Amino acid sequence: MAVFCNRCGTGLPHTARFCSNCGAVISAAQPMPGRPLVRPLVGRQIAGVCLAMAQAYGWDVAIVRILTVLGFFFTSGFVGVAYVAGWIGIPEEPIGVSGAYPPNV
Ligand SMILES: [Zn+2]
Repeated sequence: MAVFCNRCGTGLPHTARFCSNCGAVISAAQPMPGRPLVRPLVGRQIAGVCLAMAQAYGWDVAIVRILTVLGFFFTSGFVGVAYVAGWIGIPEEPIGVSGAYPPNV
């Protein structure tokens, strides 16, 4: 199961101690299978839907984003509709929830 950087959302191998993207320390209790489906406030590109899906299900956010963009063109916009649905339906990550991003970065 992959883990994700709390600061930038980069997917990392479960053995990682530091984020290879931003250098943040990865704590041991980092895997997020139990993470609720929320749109993170940090690291999002548009509305955080891809990042939310990636973190909730342990996917690589880059792959999710690429598939989303490709899917938009190959499904005549269905993925776009699904994205907007996720934008509306997936709640934003609450500010100050435990395990959220360090407030002083
Ligand atoms: Zn990072």
